[in-house]
Amino acid sequence: MLLLDIHCERDAFQLQVRESFSLNGVTGVMGPSGCGKTTLLRCIAGLERHVQGSVKFDSTLWQSEAAFVPPHKRGIGYVFQDGRLFPHMSVRSNLNYGLRRNRKYLDTASETLSFEHVVEWLGIVSLLDRPITRLSGGQRQRVAIGRALLGSPKLLLMDEPLSALDWASRTSIMPRLREINREFGVPVLFVSHNREEIARLADEVVLMDNGCIEERGPTRQMLNRARGSLADDQALSVLEAGVVNTDSPYGMTELEVDGRSLMVNQSNLRQGQQVRVVVPASEISLCLENISQISIQNRLLTTLTDIQDIDDHHALVRLTLDEQALIALITRQSRHRLGLKLGITVYAHFKAACLEVV
Ligand code: ADP
Ligand code: MG
Repeated sequence: MLLLDIHCERDAFQLQVRESFSLNGVTGVMGPSGCGKTTLLRCIAGLERHVQGSVKFDSTLWQSEAAFVPPHKRGIGYVFQDGRLFPHMSVRSNLNYGLRRNRKYLDTASETLSFEHVVEWLGIVSLLDRPITRLSGGQRQRVAIGRALLGSPKLLLMDEPLSALDWASRTSIMPRLREINREFGVPVLFVSHNREEIARLADEVVLMDNGCIEERGPTRQMLNRARGSLADDQALSVLEAGVVNTDSPYGMTELEVDGRSLMVNQSNLRQGQQVRVVVPASEISLCLENISQISIQNRLLTTLTDIQDIDDHHALVRLTLDEQALIALITRQSRHRLGLKLGITVYAHFKAACLEVV
C-alpha cells in the first residue's frame, strides 16, 4: 500500500496528489505530456526537492514533516525511458551495480533475487560480457529492467520504458513486463501515454491531468469509454474473456465474452484460462443484420449505447454486450448512412487476426 499526500510546486506547475494505491500488480499512470507523471514518480522516489506532505509505503514513512528517507534507502527500482546505464561498463557490471546497491543499503538479504534467475528470465544471458554501447535499444532496456530488479525493489517505478523503442522491441519486452509482478512479487507503477501498452499491462489505471489525479479504476473500465480525456485516435477496447475451447480446427481458439463466442488465432492458451483481449476501435465494422456468408468470424450481437463525433470525419460508437463493451471507430458518413441511434441492435464485426490476447 502506497499512501500519498503530497504537494510539489515548481515555477508554473503544481502537483497535488492525495491518494492511496493498493499496488496490486501493475498500476498504469496515463495523461497528457506535461501533466506531472514523471514528477509524481520522482516524488515517490524521493528525487524531487520541493515536496511537502507525506509518503508512506506499507508501514514505513518515506517522508513526513519529521522524516525523509533518502532515495537509495527506499528500496525502489527505477527504469527510465532512456535506460541510463553506465555506457563504459559491460552488461554484467551494470547488473552487478544493482546487486551491490541492494546489499549495501537493504536488510532484506533473504528476499534478494538471484542474478541467474533475472538474466535468464530477461533473455540476456548471451549479452553479459558485451559493452553497453554494443546493445540495441531493446537490449538496453532489458538490462535496465534487470538492474532495477537486482536491487530487489519493494516497488518498481517505470517511466515510459518502452516509448523510445521500435515496435518489434516493444512487443518482445511487453510480455516480460506483464509477468514481473507474478515472477518476482514486485508491484509496478508504469507511466505511459500509449493506450495499447496500458491495455496490455495495467491492472488499474490512474489518469492524470494538470498535476492532479483525475480518475482511476480498473483498466477495462477506464479504457472502454467513448468519451473522456483519453486520446481518441488510439481508442481501443479491452475484453475480459474465458478460454472455452482450444482444439477447434485450424489452430483457432474459442473464447467466451459475456456469453458470446469469440475466435482468436492464438494456439498457446489453456482451457479455463482468463485472458484479456485488446480490440482496436478502428478494426471494428458495424452491421445492422446478422450476415453469416462473410469471411469475418467474429460477429458479436451488441446494443449501441453511446455515439460521439470526434472530428470532422469520425465518430466513436460504444457497443454494449452484457457487462462489457466495445468501442468502434467509424466515419460520420457511415453513422448517417446506417441511421445509427441509441438503443438499436448492432453486430460488431472484427477479424480474428486483429485481436491481441494477453
Ligand atoms: P510528464 O511526465 O507528465 O510529461 P513532468 O512531470 O515531466 O510531466 O512535468 C510536469 C510539469 O513540470 C511540466 O509542465 C513541465 O513543464 C514542468 N517541469 C518539468 N521539469 C521541470 C524542471 N526541471 N524545471 C521546471 N519545470 C519543469
Ligand atoms: Mg514524463
